[in-house]
Amino acid sequence: MHGYIAPLRLRLDGEALVSNWRWLAQMSGSAACGAAIKANGYGLGAEAVMQRLIRAGCRDFFVSNWGEAQALEPLLTDGVRLSVLHGVRGEDMAIATESRAKPVLSTPAQIARWRDAGGKPCDVMIDTGMNRLGLDWRSETLAVLNGLTVETVMSHLASADEEVALNRVQLDRFADIARRVPGERHSLANSAGICRGADYHFDLTRPGIALYGGVPHVKAVGHIRQVVQPQAQILQRRRLIAGDSIGYNATFTATRDHEIAILNLGYADGYLRGFSGTGEASAGGARLPVLGRVSMDLVAIDVSARADLAEGDWVDIDYDLRRASAASGLSQYELLTGLGARYDRSWA
Ligand SMILES: *Cc1c(COP(=O)(O)O)cnc(C)c1O
Repeated sequence: MHGYIAPLRLRLDGEALVSNWRWLAQMSGSAACGAAIKANGYGLGAEAVMQRLIRAGCRDFFVSNWGEAQALEPLLTDGVRLSVLHGVRGEDMAIATESRAKPVLSTPAQIARWRDAGGKPCDVMIDTGMNRLGLDWRSETLAVLNGLTVETVMSHLASADEEVALNRVQLDRFADIARRVPGERHSLANSAGICRGADYHFDLTRPGIALYGGVPHVKAVGHIRQVVQPQAQILQRRRLIAGDSIGYNATFTATRDHEIAILNLGYADGYLRGFSGTGEASAGGARLPVLGRVSMDLVAIDVSARADLAEGDWVDIDYDLRRASAASGLSQYELLTGLGARYDRSWA
């Protein structure tokens, strides 16, 4: 058996990840700083992310479901806590009651189910205005929670990345909840929420996107470092003569001669068609624009600036998340979580 070497890879910067967490922890003031690692650590690899953040001192982690929790169970040694944001369905109970992870309960039915099964420690989600998951903030929350051991009472901000009145409304509702609903800790802020200031921090913060290089707020510019660098290999180099077109539906027609390279990368790798004619690669400082439409697993770039680039060489794909988001129309979240399984992932 020979180990397969994929023609596309993610260079992952472990120092940048830890540096981002440290900055978020410092911005969180006296609150503990956790880490959202759902969706396979936003596409980077949940286990690798969790190991590095545990070493840096992070103790609170968040995933979406029990499948994700199961895979991380071996990392739950003393003092490391993992919360499952989508609560417990009946189907989850066998796994959940034996797991060291805990559910974030968000409906009366989940609360009853958990209490009936013995009521091990849990977290609770209160909805304060997003109308996604959680007990309604107006409900008689205290009564429903009677007899449960609640570690963290949390809520989630709908618009933390925007200057809108809803932030203050949710904060006021949650501050009231924090006074009335007992728990070991209270937690409201995601990445953007951390940047909103001390009022939003409570006891525990839950950043996700900013750990991975996303810039959630202007305050984070210059502090958050890029973690993910996709690289793709050149499968073919060719000459485009004025009048030739490239790719599906011939959306680019050359008005002069170009040297182009075909890369092993496409929309099946999360490099969606929004990058057609707008994305960019680079090699040794030379900018190599995407020409024509992105295919499922191929894309063409202009390498006229680099006579030396040949079949088998690697180029960097521009993945500065703010710039790539503007170029593609995808959110920073979509850019990360779409990265898919075909990349070799290597940490430096
Ligand atoms: C995903 C998630 C987070 C992290 O949000 P970011 O915007 O990525 O920082 C925090 N809390 C909850 C409940 C989440 O679902």
